[in-house]
Amino acid sequence: MPNLRNTRLWDPQLEFAFPDCRLPYLEREKVQVTRGRMVFDTVYCASCGEAKCLAPVAATTFAFFVCDTCVGRDGPPPGCVEVAGL
Ligand SMILES: [Zn+2]
Repeated sequence: MPNLRNTRLWDPQLEFAFPDCRLPYLEREKVQVTRGRMVFDTVYCASCGEAKCLAPVAATTFAFFVCDTCVGRDGPPPGCVEVAGL
């Protein structure tokens, strides 16, 4: 499988505008969660830092996340819009 970063689908501006909300690569395994045969990285809120969701390791090259509590208090991050129902 090709690395998404090496394709035209990858937008590097998005990567540099927002932080990756997972732990650094070598620390990530310590907080991974396994469900069946799937392994997930823990994703932390970029605003409050709480562990709030999981991202599948095999399908995630970058994860930025702000929780509902922080968006409700501070609004969405600059340049972002809320998508209802997620
Ligand atoms: Zn938060």
